[in-house]
Amino acid sequence: MELSTFVDRLRNGDAAKFPHDADSLAFAQRLDSQDSLSHLRDEFILPTKSSLKKRALDGSVPGSATANHNGVNGSNGVNGTNGTIGHKAKSDDADQGIYFVGNSLGAQPKAVRKYLDAQLETWASIGVNGHFTTLENSPLTQWQDLAEDCAIKSTDIVGASASEIVIMNTLTANLHMMMASFYKPTEKRHKIILEWKPFPSDHYAIESQILMHGLDPEKSMVKIQPNEDSLIPTEKILATIDEHAEETALILLPGIQYYTGQLFDMPTITRHAQTKGIVVGWDLAHAAGNVELKLHDWGVDFACWCTYKYINGGPGSIAGVFVHEKHGKVEFDSETGKPVYRPRLMGWYGGDKSVRFNMDNNFLPTPGAGGYQVSNPSAIDLASLSGALSVFGKTTMHDLRSKALVLTAYAEYLLDQIQADSADETPLFHIITPRDPAQRGTQLSVLLKDGLLEDVSQALEENGVLCDKRKPGVIRVAPVPLYSRFEDVWRFMQVLRGALGL
Ligand SMILES: *Cc1c(COP(=O)(O)O)cnc(C)c1O
Repeated sequence: MELSTFVDRLRNGDAAKFPHDADSLAFAQRLDSQDSLSHLRDEFILPTKSSLKKRALDGSVPGSATANHNGVNGSNGVNGTNGTIGHKAKSDDADQGIYFVGNSLGAQPKAVRKYLDAQLETWASIGVNGHFTTLENSPLTQWQDLAEDCAIKSTDIVGASASEIVIMNTLTANLHMMMASFYKPTEKRHKIILEWKPFPSDHYAIESQILMHGLDPEKSMVKIQPNEDSLIPTEKILATIDEHAEETALILLPGIQYYTGQLFDMPTITRHAQTKGIVVGWDLAHAAGNVELKLHDWGVDFACWCTYKYINGGPGSIAGVFVHEKHGKVEFDSETGKPVYRPRLMGWYGGDKSVRFNMDNNFLPTPGAGGYQVSNPSAIDLASLSGALSVFGKTTMHDLRSKALVLTAYAEYLLDQIQADSADETPLFHIITPRDPAQRGTQLSVLLKDGLLEDVSQALEENGVLCDKRKPGVIRVAPVPLYSRFEDVWRFMQVLRGALGL
């Protein structure tokens, strides 16, 4: 049985149909041996069982042989760029951890340290000239162009042209900035449609935008309720849009719901809302770098995402925004010659590079999403993100998604096996993420039976497994295709079995 067969079946919307011997290390390793993306794992530094116990810096990174006793500034190579780290990691199998928490914080790409080093050397060597000088042998462009360079590297991730993408700020700040431009309530049209359980930051952002307009969140926030299974069928979203169509200014939903892992039908919802005159925004925190997106073709008005989950830019790394080209136009009034553009919050970095440094206070926005910037972005942040995005440059979202479909289906299959082996009358857990592979990304949210979370968390920790736990009883398991193996999925399930007493 070939890995590609499972990919084809899942892409066709069929069940994977894993064979009877699928619950074995040998089967998992066979899939890994057929995986054309398996080499990408070497692009990452993954925490190990011993590194997870670290309580003080010692100049070592996981996978390198010994601590560097020269300290972090030493010369014999903490930096992950000297080629020793990947090899050493392989020789020490027993110490490997399992990193299934890329939905919360992506693992560290080795390229990040290389790009940050380049950035520090540039800054130290040529100081302020780094703004307008690209050094030879550097993976980085001059600082002025770094954000654009990251936008270019993000086009496949979100399905947009580079001029529709801007890298700036952080996710919640960007939601505010987009709503400042796209939420234009009138007496009649003032509602924002969201879902029942948005990530708190999204809820607060929406609530406060409504308050800033002097409106009442009770009357202006419409929350779509899920069915009993915590999921929201597309029809229910479309029906809510219809019900509130006349009074709704904006719909702002997550591409993937962070708690259930449900992937929404973005093209259908976008089209439907827009036919009713509603502006459509998406929060892609859990979708960007996880599933295939076609924001331009879907006609999405705007979208925001963070880059520290599936994109691996590092904790709190600089975020991304999509603004459809129809909203990024800059035209000139034929009589006054003045630029005409969509109103937005303005700052000097939204100003076109050709006149940005004229300092004459005549705002001429950069055409496209770049015109929504306000500030000089952190070159350190951009270097880190640029390193992370360079890994995506070695593959495609199409290929990552193909692997992810099977990884997640395999995890689901093994979970079902565990359930089947349990003699308990009440199920030990149930998977709240949709069973349909087309309605989920890599993440499976597993709701444990009451009282199990503590024991399971402890067993996972003791075995070097990182995954996300949410009270009262959900673990979110995300085998990310860039650095996870089928073997990791199988090993994870062995740990879980042990924790459940099976
Ligand atoms: C991770 C996440 C955030 C985090 O917002 P920051 O502004 O980056 O802190 C917000 N919303 C959603 C849906 C998320 O998943």
